Amino acid sequence: MTVEATLETGTLLRVTGLKKYFPVRRGVFRRIVGWVKAVDDVDMFIPEGETLGLVGESGCGKTTTGRTILRLIEPTAGEVLFRSQRLGRVVDVTKVGKKELKLLRREMQIIFQDPYSSLNPRMTVGDIVGEPLIVHRVARGKEKEERVKELLEAVGLKPEHMRRYPHEFSGGQRQRIGVARALALDPQLIVCDEPVSALDVSIQAQVLNLLEDLQEQFHLTYLFIAHDLSVVKHISDRVAVMYLGKIVELAETEELFTHPLHPYTEALLSAVPVPDPDYEAERIILQGDVPSPVNPPSGCYFHPRCPYAQSICSEQPPQFRDLGGEHFVSCHRASELSLRGVKMR
Ligand code: SF4
Repeated sequence: MTVEATLETGTLLRVTGLKKYFPVRRGVFRRIVGWVKAVDDVDMFIPEGETLGLVGESGCGKTTTGRTILRLIEPTAGEVLFRSQRLGRVVDVTKVGKKELKLLRREMQIIFQDPYSSLNPRMTVGDIVGEPLIVHRVARGKEKEERVKELLEAVGLKPEHMRRYPHEFSGGQRQRIGVARALALDPQLIVCDEPVSALDVSIQAQVLNLLEDLQEQFHLTYLFIAHDLSVVKHISDRVAVMYLGKIVELAETEELFTHPLHPYTEALLSAVPVPDPDYEAERIILQGDVPSPVNPPSGCYFHPRCPYAQSICSEQPPQFRDLGGEHFVSCHRASELSLRGVKMR
């Protein structure tokens, strides 16, 4: 007998124990000699209509987490529960068959980081935005054209832009085309994978505002991946901090920024610029490099760089636990440390 998966009311996505290990192969026979633990036991949830920001340094596993949730990359282990409107039930994305996965693709979309390389230069904007409609047999001909026009208008472009090619647009406009393509199938969840990192600062705010407007208009839920904490602070309802393939802290945005509980979050926040001339920032410089995910440190992965580490930190991995008010942290000393946050404006 199969047990139906369930989710709490109002929750769109819940990820439990998600892992993605890539094999390291050597020698003539390409034998597996180790594993890159890109995503290592990740837990998170996103309520409907909310934005969860996912931050961390380059190479910490953020992008792999996003793609594994969408099953663009097959997970090694874990569960990704998603409330599917089309299937009319909660499904484990990691276990569905090909046919159901194709239906889920309509509800779970992605916006890529690089608006230059993610659009096919030989296709017109109309063909790029309309391609998902053809692939999923949602609309064709005149109907497709009308839908593309609507989508272009929704992202602040003009209907006549559909006859042009990507190279005729600026970076910000290209990212708008990417957003229109992600919206084409009327999704519920969009993984925004560093959507503004490749854009000028002045354009970043416009694209972020567009994403916020669209969220309200279409009741979208975002997993917003970024390395820039200021960007994440602007758009997220809650923030998850990732280090070496693990989520080390997750809380509401204001709570996380003003009362961080993990020493790594404190170090990241110390680098956030605060627009207040009376505020004296004291940057925390972490010692050493990020360890290799092939051979992560024992106990707490952060212990070789943590200024608060004690012997227990290298001996036992800390649990990811709720210290109250859905403020989750993975640190042995979280309840005794008094860490520095930043002012919210
Ligand atoms: Fe630092 Fe120890 Fe906490 Fe890890 S568990 S973050 S090493 S204090």
